Parts: sequence; C-alpha cells; structure tokens
Amino acid sequence: MEYRSLGSTGLKVSRLCFGTLTMGPLQANLPLAEGVELLKYAVWQGVNFFDTAEIYGTYPYLRRLFRSYPGEELVVATKSYAVTAEEMSRSLEKARRELGRDWIDIFLLHEQESALTIRGHREALEFLVEAKQKGLVRAVGISTHKVAGVRGALEFPEIDVIHPLFNIRGLGILDGTLSDMTDVLEHAGASGKGVYLMKPLGGGNLLNETENALRFAFSRPFAASVAVGMQTRDEIDYSVRIASNLPVPETLKKRVSREKRALHIDEWCEGCGECSARCPQGALTPGKGGRLEVDRDKCILCGYCAAACPFFYIKVY
Ligand code: SF4
Ligand code: SF4
Repeated sequence: MEYRSLGSTGLKVSRLCFGTLTMGPLQANLPLAEGVELLKYAVWQGVNFFDTAEIYGTYPYLRRLFRSYPGEELVVATKSYAVTAEEMSRSLEKARRELGRDWIDIFLLHEQESALTIRGHREALEFLVEAKQKGLVRAVGISTHKVAGVRGALEFPEIDVIHPLFNIRGLGILDGTLSDMTDVLEHAGASGKGVYLMKPLGGGNLLNETENALRFAFSRPFAASVAVGMQTRDEIDYSVRIASNLPVPETLKKRVSREKRALHIDEWCEGCGECSARCPQGALTPGKGGRLEVDRDKCILCGYCAAACPFFYIKVY
C-alpha cells in the first residue's frame, strides 16, 4: 500500500481510506465483532485511514479497532453538523470518548455547501481551530457535495482538509459538472489543502463499472486518498489492488460482482418525482407520505434515478 501526505497536515494516509458508512447501522449494520474483524483485515492489508461521522454510528467498531492496535498510527477522520461552539464541543467530546482517543486526527464540518455556509458555521470552525491549538484535533476541514463547497473552503486558510464527492460520472455533484469539480480540486491540491475523495462509486450507482470508476478516482493527482465503503473481505482485496495500481484477478472480480445490491431511497425523500421521471423501468412510484418506493423486481440498478435526484437521496448497497 502506498501512503501520501495529506496536504500540509503532517498526516500520512494510505491511498485507500476505509469509508465506514456502508458497514454501519445506516447500511449493512454488521454485528460489532464482524465489523471489527473487517476493519482489522483492512489494517492487515496496509490501510491506516478510516472515515466516519457522528451520524454514521460507527464509532464503536473503530474504538475496538484502535484498542487492538495501540502502537499503530491509524488515522481517523470524523464529521459533525455542529453549528455553534457548544455543539462542536459536544461533538468533539463524543468522538474522543466513543473512539477512545485523546485526539481526533481530522475533524470536518459535515456537508458544507459554500463559503456562506462555512461562515454560518464560524463558531464551530473556530472551536475546532482552538482544539487544534490544544492538541485535541490535528487537522480541520469540511466535507461537501458541491463545487461551491470546495471553492468556499479555499477562502479559509484554517481549513486543512477537503473531503469532496467525486466520481467518474460526476454523479451527485449538486451544482456543476465533473470538469468543474476537477478544476476546483486541482486548485485545492495546489494550494496545499489535503484532499481525500468520497463516493468514487457514486453511492453504489457505478457498480456496473466498478474497476473503471475506482481506477479513475485513484489516479487523480490532487487526491491523497479515496474513501471506499466496503462490507466484505473481497471488496477490501479488490480496492487494495486498485489503490496499489495492480490488476484484479478475474475470480475476485466475479465474486465482488455477485454480491447482492439493491436500491435504497433515503427517508428524507421529498417526493418531487425527478427520479421516477428518469426511470426507464417504471420502478419508482410514490408510497406513504409521498416518499418514493422502488419495485426491486423491475429495477436494473442503472443509476439514472440517482443522477436525477437533486439531493443525492438514492443509493445502492
Ligand atoms: S436504478 Fe435505474 S431501473 Fe432502478 S429505479 Fe433507478 S432508474 Fe429505475
Ligand atoms: S428525486 Fe430525490 S427527493 Fe425527489 S422523489 Fe426522487 S428520491 Fe425523492
């Protein structure tokens, strides 16, 4: 496994970052012991970088992992929607307590949209900067699904790390094209910001071109690391090989492609109907409270609906 410096943070991270959302209670909900074994397997393969968030519910898995490797330099990034200093103080304490760590390597403001929303979180950001000065946080940053979010972060010298949505089809970028996002991330990288990408498989919608999509993300020069959500040892083996720029054996490709996936619509769906209008299979219909429901017998996992949802509420896992 190759390791790279994450911008000017002083942190060295593996090219493959373990995105823990997909293994946790919001998605696969792996039993604790099983999830911890999966994380340990990734460490054994050279992964030293783990992405989580307050809302993912994956702190317990990571706590057990960190306890198992007391001397190991494992890097953790987490995120919070905190707006005020008081809220961020609670988020930081929760992360330190539940992860069993004296400090958090990377703390991000979750889902920032622009310079304006970052300014709206000024108190939380200032709290993190002070926490960094006290040694409780090593690097401060944002996560974002927007080109304007990355652009906004460039206005703040105190922001060390940017965690943007990025994939080969530009799926889920809320305010621009893949080319727009690429341009602004190249600028971010050149400015010394640490960049690690999220959703290289478009929330699961690019599983029909997994290898292409992953190779594309890992070959972007501005990205120190790419967070990939993984739920099995085969998926780890697969991602490790791509991150290391090695060929993937056909048998492994077949095993990974056979793993069952299904389309899921977030409970926050507003019933706007943009997605159903794009579905070639007629697989999406309004259900209770207007929220869209998927007919899994009709759905072919083509991903058109996910691209149509302005809020990125549709995922495959
Ligand atoms: S993935 Fe394709 S087939 Fe399935 S619901 Fe979405 S648009 Fe329809
Ligand atoms: S486009 Fe998104 S918000 Fe609109 S109905 Fe579909 S899933 Fe819901």
